[in-house]
Order: sequence, then structure tokens, then C-alpha cells
Amino acid sequence: MSDNINWTQEALDFLLSLYPLKRGNDLKFVYERCTQLLLQYTRANGVIVAAMEDEHTVRILGSSITTIAEDRINTIEFNNLAASGEISFSANNLLKSYSNEDAVIFLPITERERKGGVILFLETPFTTDANYNKFLSQIWLGLRELALVTQRLYIIEELTTRFNAILETIPQAIVFVDDVGKNGWINGQAAELLQLSKGKNEPIAISAAMQQLRNNAVNKEDIQKEGIKLFSSPGKTIKGWKWIFGDPVTSVLSVSCTPTLSENIRGRLWIFMDVTFTHIAAELLNELNSELMEKRKLADEQNKAKSEFLANMSHEIRTPMNGVIGMASLLVNTDLTEEQKEYVETIRISGETLIAIINDILDFSKIESGKMELESHPFFITTIIEETYDLLSVKANEKGLDLLYFIEPDVPQEIIGDVVRLRQILINLVSNGIKFTKEGEIFISVRNSAVDEEGIYNIEFAVKDTGIGIPKDKFYRLFESFSQVDSSTTRRYGGTGLGLTISQRLIQLMGGNIRVESEVDKGSSFIFNIKVQANREVKQFKSRTVPAISNLQGKRIAILDDNETNLKILKIQCENWGMEASTFSNYLAFLEELSRIAYDIVIVDMLMPDKNGIEVAKMIKAKMPNLPIILFSSSGMSPRTEGRNEYFAAVLNKPTKHSQIQKTILDILNNSANTKHSTGSVSPVLENKLPINILIAEDVEINQRLLIRSLEKLGYTADIAVNGKEVLKAVENKKYQLIFMDVMMPEMDGFEATKHIVERYSKDQRPIIIATTANALSDDREKALTAGMDDYVSKPFKLQDIQGKIEQWYKKITELL
Ligand code: ADP
Repeated sequence: MSDNINWTQEALDFLLSLYPLKRGNDLKFVYERCTQLLLQYTRANGVIVAAMEDEHTVRILGSSITTIAEDRINTIEFNNLAASGEISFSANNLLKSYSNEDAVIFLPITERERKGGVILFLETPFTTDANYNKFLSQIWLGLRELALVTQRLYIIEELTTRFNAILETIPQAIVFVDDVGKNGWINGQAAELLQLSKGKNEPIAISAAMQQLRNNAVNKEDIQKEGIKLFSSPGKTIKGWKWIFGDPVTSVLSVSCTPTLSENIRGRLWIFMDVTFTHIAAELLNELNSELMEKRKLADEQNKAKSEFLANMSHEIRTPMNGVIGMASLLVNTDLTEEQKEYVETIRISGETLIAIINDILDFSKIESGKMELESHPFFITTIIEETYDLLSVKANEKGLDLLYFIEPDVPQEIIGDVVRLRQILINLVSNGIKFTKEGEIFISVRNSAVDEEGIYNIEFAVKDTGIGIPKDKFYRLFESFSQVDSSTTRRYGGTGLGLTISQRLIQLMGGNIRVESEVDKGSSFIFNIKVQANREVKQFKSRTVPAISNLQGKRIAILDDNETNLKILKIQCENWGMEASTFSNYLAFLEELSRIAYDIVIVDMLMPDKNGIEVAKMIKAKMPNLPIILFSSSGMSPRTEGRNEYFAAVLNKPTKHSQIQKTILDILNNSANTKHSTGSVSPVLENKLPINILIAEDVEINQRLLIRSLEKLGYTADIAVNGKEVLKAVENKKYQLIFMDVMMPEMDGFEATKHIVERYSKDQRPIIIATTANALSDDREKALTAGMDDYVSKPFKLQDIQGKIEQWYKKITELL
């Protein structure tokens, strides 16, 4: 039957009929029409067009046999044949349980994206006809070409569907208008906004609607100006352009306009977003913020006023309190019964406690009201630590606590800053340490954590104790004013809870911060840093390269102490001075070593658990009678009665100063082994102490305490006046031979007080007046001498300075007695 047909002609006709399909754009129609054409031209009994939807599913796209459903197609076979790339004439396995007589032919039509093909059901004679087979090859070509087109259609359809879904789902109104005025398109939201129908619109209609919208805006002038700028530059993009409407209710659109990127279709994409809510919220927030700012300003002012009031009050209270204390001190020296003496002493001690509290409050309110100004002059870090320890050594010695420090070699020796305030911080921290520690040590370590390009050093101090510690959940309360970790602490330990707050604020004023590390029952560390400049005018030297200590080079020293920290520090120090240092925490190990190694010098601590320093010294002397020994003792415990001269080349009182240790070792090793040394060794004139009356005129408490301590070390006591007026009162009531006069004091300064004294008393009747000036560089010295003072000493001063002044004026003082 196939013989009568011109298959070449049939193939041509088929391809011609396919041609219009290539221009179609409805996929469903293409597949259906294609199925019909195939049925007609191939003379098949049935045609199925199918493709793989995914790896496991075959989808029928067009079919003339409605009885064959997709699940009849053998997926694996279909997939294999589709991938083979050749016509298959015996594709009977394509259908599951296929028992028909017809032959099954498969034409694979596979594009990159989808594997597919045409299944033809034919009577057998066709399949054996060569012309027919040629016909099939020809139409197969046409089908594959058609597949290419449908493939693209498929992709476009998919994109369009997805894109439309997005555009209709997002809340923004979207408008596209091309530049030539041909195409315009808007989504549903834009249709509502512009009152047009969604989808394609005439660009003119869209522009008119947008114009209308702009005209309704309350800020239409601004919009117009911005619009002119936008349209005058084609590539310009605009974002967050606010169109504000007031009628009937406030609404705000944020508009953005971007030129489209395609070269073929030039136009602009507009997006309108409703931002009414955020706009109103931001306005509200602004209003609230400015209200809050005003309230804060008011609160700050009130706060400042309160702090100022507090500062004034404290100052006012302090003045009469000083009177009470001063008078009590004077009263003690008059003829009193034992009972009266005790009462007066109680008044004095209570007064001093009250003054300390008031001083804290005064400092605190000064800082809070922004009135605390830091001074700036050069001072030595070592000195300030040693002074702090000097002031607090009595309390520490009572409890048997070691006061230790170590300054790393790269810390500048002399820095420029506020010495009084730094000392106040250290005193606060160290006295807290002593207060909350039963046994062990307080250890100050200083290191240099950074230097910036401008030469500003960031110096870190750590004050570590071995006391009761602080629970972690209480850390946050430490730096709050008037707060104590445990309210029962107040009763047991005393204190106002202001010390740390004041220290923290002072540290912040010095450009640093403070933090705490602590473990209950192990101890606490308060670590703070300050930003300071090093004093470049003094010669900088590192302890490693001290020239004077070449004599110590290679000398062997043994150090015996039960305190590990102390051993560590001394070892490093001695090694820095070039010595070979061995440390021992146990005397037996030390004695054993002593027979093996020839030491040049030995340091022993007085207080050790098994044997004390004297007992150990006895044993050393029994073995090595000529080995010089230095004893570290605590003041009040020095073994005067137990023959210190017999065993020790020197006795140093704790807290020991590194410079003093060094000097003592040097002296002993320089063949002066017989000389005796002790802390604060006083000159012979002063050792023959005279009963002189000294007055300290000074308003800063720490400076008062320092002077008193220095004088105590020299064996003197002193009275205190906090301003010029009190000085005059005191001088009237008691005969003083010496006054240390601060030049800067409230109410009446030192210059004026001196003038009054000079006017009232003749030269051999009035006390020697030594000015204490804060700044060595200022003209205070000249002013002091002009005012009639006899001498001056610059703050911060050292024990030796005070000692020197007393020695210098000693003869004159004797004459005044
Ligand atoms: P106070 O004048 O009461 O000592 P501070 O501000 O100096 O005030 O200290 C507040 C509290 O912090 C103290 O009462 C104590 O509970 C705790 N504290 C401070 N230093 C230490 C320390 N070294 N060890 C344990 N607790 C401490």
C-alpha cells in the first residue's frame, strides 16, 4: 500500500505544514497540531508526543490515543531511547504490557533542557519500506527544529509566569514606561495607585496618572524640582524620594526610579513603596528624642546643682570639723586626767573618721559636678608606690601582711601626671586590700602595655591581694557609689563604699579604666591603666643598665623567704642589677646549698613559719661567720634586743624599697660590711630629737597624711591646719617652731597667712615657715620668699627632702625653743 505514495512529496508537505507552527506561541496548540499532522502524514494508527518531566516522570504533551495514560510508558526505556539519538524501529518495550500487533517506532527529539520524542504505532509493512524510512528521517529533522522553538517558548513561558507571580505578590507598585512612548506596563498595586487597569497601558496614560499623583502631594514643589533633575540626565537613578500626601490622611510613598539596563528596550522602572508607618514612627521618635534630650539636660543641670551643693556642704562641714580635731589635738597636750585624755582621744579619732568620709564625698561630688581638674607634673612611679606603702605599712604590719611591688623594666621611670590623685587611687586599692586580707600579701605590679605614636604610654597597674575575694555576681556593684559587696561588710570593716567609685572616676579622667579579677577565699586583683607621658627631660634609664651597679655584676646572692612573690620579685631585681640570685623558701634546703656555693651576701626574712630570721642567721653564722646577712623585718619587730648587731650587716624594714635594697647591698659589698643600716636611717642631729612643735598647713588629706608619716619616721608629731585662718588661730594658741605651709589653700592661702605671721611676730619669735609648693616650675617659690617664708620644698617630696630641711634649719629651730 505504501508503494502508491510519493513519500518525498509527503515529507515536503509535512514540513510545510509544520512551518506555521514555528511562529505560534501557544505550546498546547503546537503539540496538539503536531500530533494531528503526524497522524495524518505518517499513516500511523496512533501518535504520542512525550517528554521527561524529571528523571522519573514521563509527560504526554500530545496524543491521539486517549486510552494510553502516562503511567503506561516505561520510563527507563523512554529515557534510554530518547538519549540514544537514533530512530528506533522496534520500540515495543516502551509500553508496559503491550500486546498489540502494531510495530512501535520512536523518534527521539531531545534538546539540552528536555529529553523527549514521538511514539508511532504502525502496521508492519511500513516499517520495512525503505522510502518510508527515508520519509521518517526527513520529518524527524523538521520535528527537531520545531522542538528548538518550543523549547524557547517553554522557557519564556516559565519566566513570564514566575515574573508575573512576583510582580503581583510584592507590596510595591511597579511601573515600566519605555522612552519612545510605545510600551507601558503596570502591576496590580500600581493599577490601584494610579487608577488604571493592570498590565499593558498606553505610556501617555501612565504619565498622566503619575502627574496627577504628584500634583496631589503636599510637597509637590520639591518633587517637581527633583523631577527636573532626574529627567535632565538619562542615566540617573533616584532612590528614597519621598512623596508625601496629606489628604484625606497622611500617607507617604518612597519612590525610586531606575533606567532599564537593556540596550534594546530603553525605559524607566518606577517603584512606589508605602512607607507611611516608618515615616510617622521616625517623626515620633525624633519628637521623643528631642523631648528626652531636654529632660536629660534638665536632669543633668539638677544633678550638677546637687553635686555642687554637696561639694559646698562638705567643704563647709570640713572646716569646723578641722577645728574640732585641731582643738582636740591641742587639748591632749594640756594637763588632763587619764579619763579626760581618753575622751579627747575618742573625739579626735571620731573626728578623723568623719573627715575621711567627708573628704570622700567631697571628691565624689567634685567629680560628679565636673569640677575635678587633674594637675600635671613629673614624678617617679617607684616613689609613689613606696609612699603609698609607707602610709599604710602600720596597718599591714599589724596584720603581718607583706607589701610588695614590681615594676617591669620597660616602664618609664618618671611620668607626667597628677601624683596626688594617682596616689589616692593606690591608697584606696591597697588599703582595701589590707582591709580584706587576713594573711599573705599585697602586690602591686606595673607594666607598660602600649606606647602610641605621640609617645603616650598606657601604663597598667595591678593591685593584687590574697584576701577574702569577691563573688563574681557582685562585681557589677563594686564601682557603684555608696555600695558595698555585702552590707554586713560595713559593720565588720567600715567604709563608705565610695573609694572604688572615686578611684574609677579618677582613672577615667586619666584616660584609663579599672576592672577586677577575683576568686572567693583566694584574693582579688584590681587592674587599671592610665595614659601618661614620660618625662623626657630626665635621663631615662632602665634598671638593667644602671651604671652604679657594675660592682654588683656576678655577685652571688641567696634570698630566703616564705613568700613566693617576694622571692620572685627580688630574684628578678637582683638579676637586673647583674647579680646571680638563688631563692629558697625553706631554710634546710638553703643551709645545704650554703656548704656547696660561696655566696657573697644573703637576705633573710624575719617572719617565716619554721624558724625566724634570727634563728636562721645564727645557723648561717655558725657555718659562715663572715657572710654578710641582711634581715627583712617589719617595723615594730626589729630584733633590737636580740643582738641584731651580732648577726646582721643591715636590717631593712618592710615594705622595703628596691632602691634601698640595692644601696644597702652595694654598701655592704663595698667593704663597709660593718656599717649598720636601717630604713629611714636618721642623721645624728635628728636622732637626738628635740621636743619641737610642728604645724602642717595643708588642705589635701593625702598630703597631710604623707607629711605626718614622714615626720613620724623622723620621730616627730605635728598638728594640722587646713587653711590660713586656722594657721593663725593655731599659732596664737601654741608656740610652733616649724610650719610646713601649703601655698594654695581655700579661704586664706599660705602667702597671706605668712604675711600676717610676719607682721605680728618678730623674727626670733615666729616659727620657721617652709612653703610646700605643688609645681616646681611655677613662680610659687619666688612668691613664697617674697611673702616672708624662709624656705620651700616642692611636692611631691620624699622623706629625705623633709629630713634635709629639718637638718638645714636645725640650728635656727634650737634657738627658737
Ligand atoms: P569602702 O570605702 O566601703 O571600702 P570601696 O568602694 O573601696 O568602699 O569598696 C566597696 C566594697 O567593695 C567594699 O566594701 C568591699 O565589699 C568590696 N571590696 C573592695 N576591695 C576589696 C578587696 N580587695 N577584697 C574584697 N572586697 C573588696
